[in-house]
Amino acid sequence: MLSLSLRQLFLSHVSQTSDAPLMLEIEKASGIYLFDVHGKQYIDLISGISVSNIGHCHPKVVEAVKLQAEKFMHLMVYGEYIHYPQVAFATLLTQQLPEKLNSVYFVNSGAEATEGAMKLAKRVTGRTEIIYCKNSYHGSTQGALSVMGDEYFKNAFRPLLPDTRMIRYGVEEDLKYISTKTAAIIIEPIQAESGVTVPDINYLNKVRAQCNITGALMILDEIQTGFGRTGKLFAFQHTNTIPDILLLAKGMGGGMPIGAFISSRENMNQLTNNPVLGHITTFGGHPVTCAAGKATLEVLLETKMYEQVEKKEKIFLEKLQHRAIKAVRSKGLLMAIEFNSFETNKKIIDLCIANGVITDWFLFAPHCMRIAPPFIITEAEINKACDVILQAISNICSE
Ligand code: PLP
Repeated sequence: MLSLSLRQLFLSHVSQTSDAPLMLEIEKASGIYLFDVHGKQYIDLISGISVSNIGHCHPKVVEAVKLQAEKFMHLMVYGEYIHYPQVAFATLLTQQLPEKLNSVYFVNSGAEATEGAMKLAKRVTGRTEIIYCKNSYHGSTQGALSVMGDEYFKNAFRPLLPDTRMIRYGVEEDLKYISTKTAAIIIEPIQAESGVTVPDINYLNKVRAQCNITGALMILDEIQTGFGRTGKLFAFQHTNTIPDILLLAKGMGGGMPIGAFISSRENMNQLTNNPVLGHITTFGGHPVTCAAGKATLEVLLETKMYEQVEKKEKIFLEKLQHRAIKAVRSKGLLMAIEFNSFETNKKIIDLCIANGVITDWFLFAPHCMRIAPPFIITEAEINKACDVILQAISNICSE
């Protein structure tokens, strides 16, 4: 009864984003598992959309949150007081990054990181044009929506930001549109929501080169690819490319809401004058979320669990063979399994969830199944999850 009424209240009082919410009533999460109120266990194969990279409720993150919550939670964040968790996290983070990415602006989400970065690019270059890619996703706020590479999702909300221009992702020929009028190109190193599009290894270098020629800034969105997802701490480390502004969020807080845009101290100084307070946020860099972020990064650095990501990707790839699978695209543990239609994919996803494996589709590739598990998933668990997926494919595709 309690469960039923909670479902009713959920539908009545919690704003909905689709007509068919999953309605899983989760009571507890640990490692790669979620547990619902009926005691049913699910393997989380999507990490709450690339968030729980080190697993749900990692004990070191939980401990860091508790310790910080007992000391102080909210104080005035910007920019008067020195908070140990914020300073320590920014220091540890920048130690992992190239020299010119030495100044961190903490925010609360990925979309906010996008917003801050676009503002910063305008200030640094004195230009206004922002270039973005077809099928890119950088968040759902109006600025981020303006650089979303999909008309269906943005059309209902026009007018959006002027002076934006879309180019094709991964197509070298289109880089000529980055010009001396361009403030920045915002781009993902691997496009996630298009159903995992991995560009040619030299593509990012070519984007960088065109930015160097024109003076445009390169904003690299690692909100989904960051913190180990592709097998390196950051996906740009697979290349020689160093962005001017790096966007982070999702896996950054180990389950707590935090994001950041990171650039050089020199660039970031543009937000301190004329106007003063060029970008502000009440909660960005919150001490508890920063403590969680620092603990998460420490776990990643101590265990180097992201170095196992490519080996685990291979196990998935070897196992996921079925005549109904049209293609599999992946970079590390960011994987898309392509089917012939959304209808087929959705039925398979629903059956997987009913059988205890949580997966999902992609925003701009609804015919592709998302696999992005926590990195701690074991070989036995991968095999188990793949068996559930393969069984679901066989059941649905023989209907
Ligand atoms: N950028 C990318 C590549 C994303 O995948 C997402 C979220 O899915 C965002 C930005 C937006 O992040 P948030 O949902 O935290 O605003």
